[in-house]
Amino acid sequence: MTKKAPLIIFDGIDGSGKSTQATLLKERIKDTHAVHFTREPGGTPLSEKVRDIFSSPEGVQASARTQFFLLTASHSHWLEEVALPNLKEGTPVISERGDSSLFAYQLMTRGHHEMEDLFWDIRNQLFGEYRPTLYLIYDVSPVEAKRRVNTDMARSRSLFDMEPIEFYEKARNGFKLFAEKLPDEAVIIDGSRDPKIIHEEVYALVSKLCGW
Ligand code: ADP
Repeated sequence: MTKKAPLIIFDGIDGSGKSTQATLLKERIKDTHAVHFTREPGGTPLSEKVRDIFSSPEGVQASARTQFFLLTASHSHWLEEVALPNLKEGTPVISERGDSSLFAYQLMTRGHHEMEDLFWDIRNQLFGEYRPTLYLIYDVSPVEAKRRVNTDMARSRSLFDMEPIEFYEKARNGFKLFAEKLPDEAVIIDGSRDPKIIHEEVYALVSKLCGW
């Protein structure tokens, strides 16, 4: 029987270093280990279209409730098409963002705390026995995150980059709360350090889970 492969989510506020860490890991293991790298929303043609809608002015202006269901539809499709097939055949999956972002942004940042029960219900329904094995929550101060986003010339700009510092602060707290709710699965990573030092910590955690 194939050993169940891990599903690992890299999450945290914009500018916290998710993409940098995914790239460093990808580079390190590319010739030695098979991992499916993906992102949410996205990862399939349909979910990438949802990402475009979500990032459009209409998507950004939609209520958090509407965003919640839009993103959940994308998440369901991503699970069916990307995560579950890979996990079932034994390939680890690493995603930039996941349901932790839905919790941090649509529920906590945008103030829909009353949707929390629904969030956990849907989470259980959709993931079933394939719930994420590990969430790495990259944590940096909102000031530092915004500075990085503003000075990163290679970054494709989104309307979310223009959110005020308070938005980053609420999201950061939302991620911390998510980690508190799942103490066995979530690890807060100090993202203020040198990327290579962070990478060593990330590699140690990921390689242990993947059995490398
Ligand atoms: P995210 O994917 O979380 O939005 P990125 O990985 O794209 O963040 O990083 C945003 C910017 O910050 C990039 O210019 C990146 O080079 C820089 N950066 C990432 N990690 C660090 C770090 N640990 N220290 C300083 N700058 C960093």
